[in-house]
Amino acid sequence: MGAIKISIQNNIIMIEENIDKALNRAGRKGEKVELIAVTKTVDVERINEAIGTGILNIGENKVQELEKKYNIIGDTVNYHMIGHLQTNKVRNIIGKTRLIHSLDRISLAKELDKRSKNNDIVTDVLIQVNVAEEETKFGLEVDKVLYFIEEILDLNNIKVRGLMTIAPYTTDTKLLRNVFRTLFNLKEDIINRNYENLSMDYLSMGMTNDYELAIEEGSNMVRIGSAIFGKRNY
Ligand SMILES: *Cc1c(COP(=O)(O)O)cnc(C)c1O
Repeated sequence: MGAIKISIQNNIIMIEENIDKALNRAGRKGEKVELIAVTKTVDVERINEAIGTGILNIGENKVQELEKKYNIIGDTVNYHMIGHLQTNKVRNIIGKTRLIHSLDRISLAKELDKRSKNNDIVTDVLIQVNVAEEETKFGLEVDKVLYFIEEILDLNNIKVRGLMTIAPYTTDTKLLRNVFRTLFNLKEDIINRNYENLSMDYLSMGMTNDYELAIEEGSNMVRIGSAIFGKRNY
């Protein structure tokens, strides 16, 4: 037991140090990067250990898991939906999330808006972009994002707060930098268009294998699982 506690705590301390170093390398000293602890497949006991060391945000990729953990842990921590979201599951998580990272289609935007309106809330979302155009991944292609934004701007009960991407699983740092830089530039382009009812506060990019590169390229929200909790066995 003790060993597990120490290792989760040490892992988080080490990641926070790496985040600061990456910010320094990028000339972004003093800026903030939010750490989302990705808790998919992680049991509540270990999640609570992470929360005990100061984790404020956790990410799940399945609605059912998010609900389950929300019911046990409660709102002492912020919940992020980071996985593909089926339209018929939206009603189960409305009001439980701080941020939904995976808005990728009009039908989902409309359902989120409708359910949020019913609950008298505004749901914050990120648009997921499939920068590398991988067939196995969800998300809009880069050149479809502006059109998508124009289509959903009049939905008043969702608010776009930024962009999210999942980079390819590779050690090719040049390719990774390219992906992250492309998303950063898209964000800047959107900012320059001064849309109302939209902000670009968050650039959610970077996971265990690539978070330092992502921060060097402008990320301010990283989603990290295995570097905190160890390898997942699934
Ligand atoms: C699993 C997952 C992560 C975390 O992955 P690690 O490599 O374990 O850090 C981040 N984002 C999404 C969308 C995920 O599904």
